[in-house]
Amino acid sequence: MASSAQRPEPLDGGPVDTRGVLATLVALSRSYGSDPEMTLAGGGNTSAKLDGHLLVKASGAALSQIGPDDFVDLDRTALKALLERDLAPSRAEREAAFKDALLAARWTPATGRRPSVESVLHHLMPGRFVVHLHATVVNQFACSRDGRRLVGQHLAQDVVWVGLVDPGFILAKTLQAELRAFTAKTGKQRPRAVILQNHGVVVSGETPEEARAQVDWLLGELGAIKERAVRGAHARARSGPSPRPDEPPGPSQVEERRGKEQAAQIRRALTAMFTPGAGGHPEVVFDGSHVVAGLLARDEGRRLALGGPVTPDQIVYCRSFPLWLEVGPRDTGPALERHLAAGVHQYAQEHGGAPKVVLVPGVGMFTWGATRPEADAARLVYRDAVKIMTGALDLGGVSYLDDDFRGFIENWELEAYRRKRLFEPA
Ligand SMILES: [Zn+2]
Repeated sequence: MASSAQRPEPLDGGPVDTRGVLATLVALSRSYGSDPEMTLAGGGNTSAKLDGHLLVKASGAALSQIGPDDFVDLDRTALKALLERDLAPSRAEREAAFKDALLAARWTPATGRRPSVESVLHHLMPGRFVVHLHATVVNQFACSRDGRRLVGQHLAQDVVWVGLVDPGFILAKTLQAELRAFTAKTGKQRPRAVILQNHGVVVSGETPEEARAQVDWLLGELGAIKERAVRGAHARARSGPSPRPDEPPGPSQVEERRGKEQAAQIRRALTAMFTPGAGGHPEVVFDGSHVVAGLLARDEGRRLALGGPVTPDQIVYCRSFPLWLEVGPRDTGPALERHLAAGVHQYAQEHGGAPKVVLVPGVGMFTWGATRPEADAARLVYRDAVKIMTGALDLGGVSYLDDDFRGFIENWELEAYRRKRLFEPA
C-alpha cells in the first residue's frame, strides 16, 4: 500500500485544468454508483483535490449517472476558514450559516449547482481522491449497538469511528477532532477508513486505485468479523438454526398464488388512494424479494421494522416509518380496500402524511412515489434498510436513530434539496 506521508497541499486558488481529474472522478463514481451494495439513489459522493480546489459531487446527483458537470469546484481556503468558525449555537441558525458558507466557497457559482452537504468531510480527509459510500455491510456495523465495540476491538489501528452527531457542520468538526486523536494515538497520518455511525464510510487515497483498495480491505475485514460474530451467536442460541433473512420459509403454491392476487389488488388500491399534487402521476411498485419476505416472516419482523429509521437515506427516501398492515388470507375486493384505507388513514393521523412504504406480511412490500423513479428509490433504499437491520441484529442489536436526530433530518433543508434535485426531470 502507498505510504501515508502527506504531500503538502498548497491552498492557493487560481485556474487549474480540471478535465483530466473530472474524467477520473466520473469513472470512479459511476463504478460505485452502479453497485446497489455500495450506494443507492442520491447517496454517497466523491471528490478530488487539485491545489486549492476541491471538486466535489453536487447535491442531489446520483453517482450511477454522474457526469463532469455534476461536480462543484470549491475553494479549499474558504472551507478551511469555515471549519475555524464558531457558528451560531442554535441548530437552525448554524445550518443556515453553514449552507451560506458552502455556497460562498464555490469558485464558479454561476453554474447554480450546490455542493454536497458532506463537502467539508471531503476537504478534511487526507488524500487526493475521497470516496464516501453508504455500503450495506458497513452500515450493518454502523447501525448495530455492538458496531463501535467490534470495530474498536479488531480495527482500532486502522479505522476511525465517528459517533452519531448532527450532519453538516457538527459532523465535520467531529471528524476533524477524531482524525487528530487517531494520529496522536497511532502515529499514522491517516486511517484506512472512517465509519460514520448510522450513515456510511469515507476512504481516501492519492489515486483512485488506492481509495478503492481501502474500500475492498474494509469490506473484507468487516465480512470476516461478521461471520465470526454470527457463528458465535448461533452457537450460543443452540436451539437449532435461526431463520436467515435471505432464506425465508418457502410458501406453498396455493399461498404463492394467493399472495400474487392480493399483491395486484393492493397495488391497485394504493395507487388509487395516493394522489399526489396536480399534474403528478402516482406510482406504487411491489417488492416480493426474499430480503423483504424474510423480514415479514420473522417473529420479530414487526418490531424490527417499526423500531425507527436506521439511516438518513431511509428517512429521506422512505419516510421514517413504514406502515405495517396485516391482511387476512381471504381479504379481497371492497373489504380489502376498506381495510387498506383504514390503515393508511391511521398512519396519516400518526405521521402527518401518507406512507412511502407499506409492508404486508405474507404478500410483500409496496412503495409509493409521485413518479416511478421516486417509488423505485423508496423500494431499493428500504430493501437495503432491511438488510442493514437484519445484519445489525445479528451483530448484537439494531441501533435506531432517535426522535431528535430524526426530526433534524426530516426538517433539514439541505436534505430536502438533495431529494428534490434527484427527482427533477433532467
Ligand atoms: Zn452520506
